[in-house]
Amino acid sequence: MKYVKVSAIKNGGSANKCLFCQSLKTKRKNYVIFKGRHSFSMLNIFPYNNGHVMVSPIRHIQEFSQLNDNEILDLFKTLNNTKKMLGKVLKPHGYNIGINTSASAGAGETRHLHIHIVPRWKGDTNFMTTLYNTKVISQSLDELYKRLKGTLKTILNADLRKSNTDYRR
Ligand SMILES: [Zn+2]
Repeated sequence: MKYVKVSAIKNGGSANKCLFCQSLKTKRKNYVIFKGRHSFSMLNIFPYNNGHVMVSPIRHIQEFSQLNDNEILDLFKTLNNTKKMLGKVLKPHGYNIGINTSASAGAGETRHLHIHIVPRWKGDTNFMTTLYNTKVISQSLDELYKRLKGTLKTILNADLRKSNTDYRR
């Protein structure tokens, strides 16, 4: 079922507990799509656009310089697979992929490193975003979550067949 959902854009994570570490403890509720050995991805519940996903190391670290080699490999494989998954399900025209490294750079949760993947479509920046700081999301998070998870399984199986690294489901 499709319906229009309107949600205010907020930056989460102002509470004492780390948003990312907390999300791993209660997967379903927080829309964790994938959890690998060293990294995971989850839907942003305050999306900038439909299909806004965040990819993060599992370890609670703040900076790139703290990532070890296994984490770097795993993080970028998860990023790559997440992008493939979004491409299959939502067919965007492009993406914004980026990292905000401090509150002054726009990060909501500054204590846990994460990469934003925001699908973009031609003409998706409309007057509502500019004037009212809100976004019309045309697909419910629950429905999107189910579709993404189903698609990711297929991608990961293909990835496992051609890869002999320690990356796994
Ligand atoms: Zn954390």
